[in-house]
Amino acid sequence: MMTKLLVIGESREGELRNVTFEAVAAAKKMNADAEVVGVILGAGSLEEQGKEIIRYGADRAITVQDEKLEDYTSEGYGQAALAVIEDESPDGIVMGHTSIGKDLTPKLAAKIGSGLVSDAVDISNEDGEVLFTRPIYSGKAFEKKAITEGVAFVTIRPNNIKPLERDEDRTGEVTAKDVDISDVRTIIKDVIRKASEGVDLSEANVIIAGGRGVKSEEGFQPLYELAEVLGGAVGASRGACDAEYCDYALQIGQTGKVVTPDLYIAVGISGAIQHLAGMSNSKVIVAINKDPEANIFNVADYGIVGDLFEVVPKLTEELKQLNV
Ligand code: FAD
Repeated sequence: MMTKLLVIGESREGELRNVTFEAVAAAKKMNADAEVVGVILGAGSLEEQGKEIIRYGADRAITVQDEKLEDYTSEGYGQAALAVIEDESPDGIVMGHTSIGKDLTPKLAAKIGSGLVSDAVDISNEDGEVLFTRPIYSGKAFEKKAITEGVAFVTIRPNNIKPLERDEDRTGEVTAKDVDISDVRTIIKDVIRKASEGVDLSEANVIIAGGRGVKSEEGFQPLYELAEVLGGAVGASRGACDAEYCDYALQIGQTGKVVTPDLYIAVGISGAIQHLAGMSNSKVIVAINKDPEANIFNVADYGIVGDLFEVVPKLTEELKQLNV
């Protein structure tokens, strides 16, 4: 029986990322009665982040503040998280399946000799056994896994488990913990963000993705305009990235980002299996392609056969009229 669960938070520019709140909801799915403890690691004042994770359902929060935690390093975050885990002796630890979660959790799990289920898209508690559903074979099938011994580590795929409703009045204890973070050999000199400003691709609810059919860097402009109207992010196929129409940071697929937005609009993308691996679990898929035989239509809920350079601007105009 899991009675105490830790959620390791992730923040960007001083604000907790949405996937942290999804991780709190995931912990509650593991056991609705468990004590959920938010763990906030970083530099500067972390108290507000501690309070915020509580507003999203955690019972209390522990912060570890150190200048060495300003940017993520495996060593710094690993030492801080391990110290909290050793203190708290949780039954399970939940984190987002993000670049940081993917790096940190296997190291922590190996250190304390426990199991890890990565990339869970759903969690159920069946007669006291916690089952984690995760995609396999590039999203073509799902398996259910349980961790039967030791501490259960789990990373959850962003955008799959709904966060609990934020409760402004919910309060809990936020404790600052001192950890001696000594062994950090990595020095971050600079962080260069490749992705465009605005909505984060891996957490976006709406994604407009362009493929080789977009034909040029300028060809992506109408996609950005559509994304702006819908409050979404722009992504791409590897075909478009290889052709240098956009940065590889936008690539979606087997060797790119895996996304599950509410709405995915594939524009000038043929639907190669490696692309589908990154987006086929999106809730609603719309495909715009001039080739009616394109494979993307096999996974699309709605298809528009036509020239993207005509369809996309018209769609943007219509949506503007509707004031969506
Ligand atoms: P294309 O296949 O060239 O399709 C372009 C489409 O645009 C066509 O369907 C065409 O009908 C349409 N089109 C053209 N002009 C217009 C127009 N004016 N209006 C409307 N439609 C138009 N790919 C990924 O995307 N992500 C990955 O992570 C990935 N990983 C890979 C890993 C490996 C190991 C390998 C071997 C390949 C990988 N690929 C990946 C590449 C993948 O196999 C495809 O080559 C790639 O997805 C094709 O990109 P595309 O659909 O943009 O281009």
